Amino acid sequence: MSFSLSELFALHHGLPRQGPGSDETTARLLALAGPVPPRPRILDLGCGPGRSALVLAAATGGHVTGVDLHQPYLDQFLDSADRAGLRAQVTAMRCSMDALPFPDRSFDLVWCEGAAYNLGFATALDSWRRLLAPGGVLVVTEIEFTGTDPSPATVDFWAERYPLRYPDDNREIAAAAGYTVLAHHRLPEADWWSEYYDPLLARVSGVDTAAAAEVRAETELRREHGADYDYAGYVLRPNRTDKTPMWTTRPETPADRAAIHAVNAAAFPTAEEADLVDALRADSQAWIDGLSMVAVAPGGEIAGFALITRCEVGGEPALALAPCAVRPEYQGKGAGAAAIRACLDAARHLDENLVVVLGHPEYYPRFGFTPASGFGVRASFDVPDEALMALSLDASRPTPAGVIRYPAAFGV
Ligand code: SAH
Repeated sequence: MSFSLSELFALHHGLPRQGPGSDETTARLLALAGPVPPRPRILDLGCGPGRSALVLAAATGGHVTGVDLHQPYLDQFLDSADRAGLRAQVTAMRCSMDALPFPDRSFDLVWCEGAAYNLGFATALDSWRRLLAPGGVLVVTEIEFTGTDPSPATVDFWAERYPLRYPDDNREIAAAAGYTVLAHHRLPEADWWSEYYDPLLARVSGVDTAAAAEVRAETELRREHGADYDYAGYVLRPNRTDKTPMWTTRPETPADRAAIHAVNAAAFPTAEEADLVDALRADSQAWIDGLSMVAVAPGGEIAGFALITRCEVGGEPALALAPCAVRPEYQGKGAGAAAIRACLDAARHLDENLVVVLGHPEYYPRFGFTPASGFGVRASFDVPDEALMALSLDASRPTPAGVIRYPAAFGV
């Protein structure tokens, strides 16, 4: 087995999938994951050309962030999303699945078809757990022995390539990583062929390279010894281990206005922020319905608040996150973060992109904010470089640069 990566990528370029699977299987695994919240936040790791990502976006109406290392696959993913009319529901991100820049608990579904082997099943399960929001589910497909005694040909072939385990071993790994296995679903044989091996074989026909030979060897093994091994989907729910209160987040309603005023008045030394929120609400240029978010405590009280309003950067529309407030008795328990996350998600759903925030440089990076100077974004007043931060909600689109113009109510 020795072939160059570029040779391999050339062979695989433009194929519908880069591993066994089918739209039907993706839909089936989604059903096995149980009910998902409306407009779920979904992360598809090693998304490749994006087949599963598009099924998930279409089926849930949610937003799918597809992550892959290989830019041509991401381009293919975005093109397909365009054609399917799903472009607004997807984000493509080029980064490694072992260095994900997302905050904890930021996805309702974490998905990975035919790609967890890049990290190894155990490492993948262990490191992705933190990404799941309360109630979230992880779905991973993994190649494994079927359980019957595998033939020496199968054992030898995979010994050189990837450590296959038995389903019981994988269940044990899942349990050790803190998950309950909600379902274990074997992919049907057709999932290996119709969108993966068949198009790949057609492409290597007559090709005499090491990579082509590898494709032929792998498919031959499947044909002759397919009963020895399978791809299986694991549907996994993290066991609850902490006592963190579950904040419910939702956009403000007219009935919340007094409570929101009170939260801001309680959180800050003066009523300035509370009044600012009321002034922004009255400014139709600044206010965007749905981007004033409350975090509600289990008892029903509004504990946290986050607001995003329209600003301009370099004369182009952008968003400003401010103010964020938590009632003193609830501070340090995640209510503010819950409100901010919900606010950013809602903005992403509205197809917004650049968000600026002026705040604590220790706090906002957990949401993905980095110094605004890196975006070429500046304030019109004096501010320490690290306190002015910005975030791109869709890294695949350009962001404006220049000076921020805040809504008049900010008085800056
Ligand atoms: N899920 C897709 C692709 C599976 S192939 C499908 O089912 O069709 C594995 C994918 O993992 C490839 O697209 C490859 O580019 C990607 N990949 C490999 N190493 C990666 C890494 N460290 N981080 C993110 N993606 C990676």
